[in-house]
Amino acid sequence: MTIATHELDAVCAAMRGTSRAALAVHESPDGDAVGAAAGMLDLFGSLGVEAALHVDAGVTLPLADEFLPPGGVVTGPPPSTATLYALDCGSAARLAVTLPEGSRVGVNIDHHHDNTRFGELNFVDGHASSTSELVCAIADRLGLRFSPRAAAALYAGISFDTGHFQHDSTSAATFACCARLVTDGADPNHVYRLLYETRSLASLRLWALAIERAQAAAGGRALLTQLRADDFAVTGASDDETEGIVDALRSVPGVDVAALVRPRGDGHVRVSLRSDGFDVSAVAGLRGGGGHRQAAGFTAAGTVEEVTQWLSTVLDERLSTASS
Ligand code: 5GP
Ligand code: MN
Repeated sequence: MTIATHELDAVCAAMRGTSRAALAVHESPDGDAVGAAAGMLDLFGSLGVEAALHVDAGVTLPLADEFLPPGGVVTGPPPSTATLYALDCGSAARLAVTLPEGSRVGVNIDHHHDNTRFGELNFVDGHASSTSELVCAIADRLGLRFSPRAAAALYAGISFDTGHFQHDSTSAATFACCARLVTDGADPNHVYRLLYETRSLASLRLWALAIERAQAAAGGRALLTQLRADDFAVTGASDDETEGIVDALRSVPGVDVAALVRPRGDGHVRVSLRSDGFDVSAVAGLRGGGGHRQAAGFTAAGTVEEVTQWLSTVLDERLSTASS
């Protein structure tokens, strides 16, 4: 991690100087978004600053009961008196809360390399494993420790975004941060079980359908699969239980890119892309999405079949010209 010390100091000064903070995360919040929010709420608590995470109605926060403090989440827009902190979000348009007209994002803390730097203050490190790791760096700089609950949430956030410490973004700084979190009370075994060994039978059945249907593209260098609305109805699984399917496809030796295409229920489809180094955020960018080199996604208008076909064509072209 190459921490921009100047920005880090500026964030610490802003946090100390805030009397009220509102946190926001990206839409369809994931483990890193929740971890980073839990960590920031904990730090604001220690600083005596009133703070809450704001989301629109209908937004689900994974493992919120386990990781977020009671009263830490508010449904609805942030109050105008609060300084807004955006966490783990690449652009203002992706925030999981609708901001009142004219609102400004005070502080933007993120690790997406394509972050649009939409905050008044931007603490963005595209090399960091996760936003949770950046929150650890903030705590270090402030000289504060975490509560056991926040430490577990941050550890889970890092585990989530690194694919449990496997992605290239996993660095010595990542492990140093995790050591600190374990000292503060995070239990690696408990977090591992929560994240990776808690699956419903419905989700396993959904996985089976997705894996059964996988199709090779680009001469076997890509593996694409799709789920349809019926699959969710038949198995009883929900969209968040698709987590991990695309990573399983990526684990096949020789597969450089894996994709999962699924319906979103409003004439749009959601696509998750994973790679072994090939830049999938560039592919997602062709349809208005983004993310990281090894993990990216987008939402597109059309049917699952149309978008899968489009993706197959693009990957055929791009992988034939790319070295692995
Ligand atoms: P997932 O496949 O888990 O939904 O997303 C993988 C990564 O891509 C995440 O880091 C997420 O932030 C990013 N991502 C997914 N969908 C979008 C999108 O529509 N726009 C942007 N900018 N990033 C996305
Ligand atoms: Mn993240």
